[in-house]
Amino acid sequence: MSHSTNSDATRRAGAVLTVDLAAIAANWRGLRDAGRAAGRPVECAAVLKADAYGTGATIVGPRLAAEGCRQFFVAHIDEGIALRAVLPDHPIYVLNGLLAGTEPDFVEHGLTPVLNHLGQLNAWRAAAQRYNRALDAVIHIDTGMHRLGFGPEEEQVLINERGRLRGLRLALLMSHLVVSEEPGNPINSEQLSRFRTFVRAMPGAPASLANSSGIFLGPDYHFDLLRPGAALYGINPLPGQPNPMLPTVRLDVRILQTRVIDALQTVGYGAAWRSARPSRVATIALGYADGYFRNLINRTHVHVAGHRVPVIGRISMDLVTIDVTDLPESICQPGATVEVLGENMTADDLADHAHTNAYEIMTALGRRYARLYTDDRMEGP
Ligand SMILES: *Cc1c(COP(=O)(O)O)cnc(C)c1O
Repeated sequence: MSHSTNSDATRRAGAVLTVDLAAIAANWRGLRDAGRAAGRPVECAAVLKADAYGTGATIVGPRLAAEGCRQFFVAHIDEGIALRAVLPDHPIYVLNGLLAGTEPDFVEHGLTPVLNHLGQLNAWRAAAQRYNRALDAVIHIDTGMHRLGFGPEEEQVLINERGRLRGLRLALLMSHLVVSEEPGNPINSEQLSRFRTFVRAMPGAPASLANSSGIFLGPDYHFDLLRPGAALYGINPLPGQPNPMLPTVRLDVRILQTRVIDALQTVGYGAAWRSARPSRVATIALGYADGYFRNLINRTHVHVAGHRVPVIGRISMDLVTIDVTDLPESICQPGATVEVLGENMTADDLADHAHTNAYEIMTALGRRYARLYTDDRMEGP
């Protein structure tokens, strides 16, 4: 059984992004089971920052909660506030930390700041005193990323002066891996050993180190809580190897118009493509304003009814042109759909063409697409 949240918007739309919630849920279960494989009770959270990597955090969050996911991460406090409206009871951790003056907002919305330095810890403890209640806190230590988190000296202060945590409930100790997608890189084991030392010095609190690729580094990296983002959404956590995750998005874009041009005619801005022969050009409802990057010029293709079709000419803000000369006219009429992302072109594939990673492709997914959510949740016997 398949249900979808259909709307007039999808009927009218030039482009439809379909998000497969069942696939996201299956990916989450697979990662959770990887965490349990060593026989320890490892939990699996979900990272929903950047609108769940472009897929829609307020829809994906509750779906994963229904699947059994109990803890969620976002980057910005406002992402947490939006998520709180649909997840009234689950811990929501805000990775970017506690900006001065936002303590009342965290308290009001029941959000937990990831404390990234002593100053934030002090401010949060002061808030706990003001509100006269134990507030949850996450401590993030920097084991090598050198962006956010307690540095080595602050870490020692915390270990030596546990009283600094008085009034707070330590929900989690965490750190973040630098090169988890490179299993052979020694930075992984260096970070692991630093994190282990810290966790041992702070007994009693659960710990978390592994992002998506980190989960595949093995049980040593799992601690108590897994923190996948990318792999939930189908991005390959094992670059260079077959993708163990299910794809979760497809992007279908309508042909707006087709035209026949003579040989030696140019198409699009800058006259950047010239026909070598009489050609049929189709223009589709997609552009760089939708996250289809300009640097994809002359480097990628789309699919029409399973046929591979080159993208030609410059990517415009709202339009992309494709060369359908070799296709039967009947399948590339205005209104026909073109597969931009799907089984023939994953976000990882498109990322290769755009010389970026699938994270950027996914988080750039256009806000103008009509969105369709499918879910073939089979509560089988
Ligand atoms: C984004 C993020 C994650 C998730 O990383 P993926 O590689 O997408 O799985 C986990 N932890 C932190 C701190 C992050 O910023």
